[in-house]
Amino acid sequence: MPSVYNWQLGREMSYPHEERHPKWQFAFVFNLNRCIGCQTCTMSCKSTWTFSKGEELMWWNNVESKPYGGYPQNWDAKLLDMLEKVNPGAQVWDAQETDPRKKPYGTFDGLTIFEAAEKHPSAEGPQQALGYLPTDDEWRSPNIHEDTPTGDHFTKDMQFGGSVQLPEHKVWFFHLARICNHCTYPGCLGSCPRNAIYKRPEDGVVLIDQSRCRGYRKCVEGCPYKKAMYRPTTRTSEKCIACFPRVEGKDELVSPTGAPAETRCMSACVGKIRMQGLVEIDDNGEWVPAPKSPLYYLIRERQIALPLYPQFGTEPNGFYIPARWVPRNYLIQMFGPGVEHAIDQYSCPDRVPLGVMQLFRAQRQILFRYEIDSGEKVAEVEVTMPDGTSKTQEIFNDTVIGYNKLDEEVVRITVEEPTFERPAEIHVNSI
Ligand code: SF4
Ligand code: SF4
Repeated sequence: MPSVYNWQLGREMSYPHEERHPKWQFAFVFNLNRCIGCQTCTMSCKSTWTFSKGEELMWWNNVESKPYGGYPQNWDAKLLDMLEKVNPGAQVWDAQETDPRKKPYGTFDGLTIFEAAEKHPSAEGPQQALGYLPTDDEWRSPNIHEDTPTGDHFTKDMQFGGSVQLPEHKVWFFHLARICNHCTYPGCLGSCPRNAIYKRPEDGVVLIDQSRCRGYRKCVEGCPYKKAMYRPTTRTSEKCIACFPRVEGKDELVSPTGAPAETRCMSACVGKIRMQGLVEIDDNGEWVPAPKSPLYYLIRERQIALPLYPQFGTEPNGFYIPARWVPRNYLIQMFGPGVEHAIDQYSCPDRVPLGVMQLFRAQRQILFRYEIDSGEKVAEVEVTMPDGTSKTQEIFNDTVIGYNKLDEEVVRITVEEPTFERPAEIHVNSI
């Protein structure tokens, strides 16, 4: 297999195709501290794209309660287990040496899904990526184990009050919202024997050409996130298309001037956990430095948002601010060695990240640039840090301004939410 550079792993890795990169890359940040599991995103996607015959079990966007939930069931535990069996005790990171551009989280010393398949061919014949085909039963219950907690101290005589105190809750769960990660090195694309899957050069969106697909389901097997799905009525596979007409600025209602807009699931998010963007990529596949891009700032500049299971090796372009009450070992397995740093940053953000985080779900057009106008200090708050110590956070009422791709101002928001006092007169609803 050719060798490609994966910045999330901090090293070269094998991939079935030569290294090629789009000019811009679809990417997103989800803040897991804010997801309430309302499934509005799930339904906004379903009612837009997968409401037809044969798509009944297809949820391009899903939200699962971790650690027990999963769609398909146990998708991540199963693949982690397969990788561990291929490379016992060696699926580890070396986080000693880091470099913000080439290896921000250190180096992954284990095997990716591509390397595991190469080194250990399966009994059924060669695979391009280590994976498996979920059973029909595993696809059947997208929201199984909803809101089911876990914890070592979950006994009948437990003290409920004491179980939910930072820095880590003793009894915990969290909602993990997921869509296709429009990976840089997609497992679905690498596994397709028909070359029916492609990555668009203009925005990195990964699509399945329905006229080429013959329904072999190798993409379903090879996507580690299980975001390629089979449709029995057409005998083809389908997947999230990143609402590409919106990303192209073709939705006149949302983008009257033709600027790119966020997807339906992003726009609908009630918990304001989501921010989508397009990040610029250079010819070597590196993110062009853009500290004034909200996404670049959160992911690359401050490393507050981390990739989901980077060790799988597909270089996913979905990034998550980890839920700060969850035991660290679980989070490190899911997001890599950057977890402590990310939670530290998020727990007590200084002025710029606090300002940038106001932009989540503040506008449906994609924000390419932000500016911050300084405001007055309005509060001091005591914060419990991840190591259990206490820190004072100063809060300033800064104004954050967001610009679209055409550099038009499309949002202006203050850190302190404005409040309005109702006049003391009699209203229709007054008693
Ligand atoms: S998440 Fe899965 S379906 Fe989406 S691009 Fe990556 S490998 Fe392909
Ligand atoms: S709409 Fe937002 S808050 Fe609701 S489940 Fe989806 S990601 Fe979570």
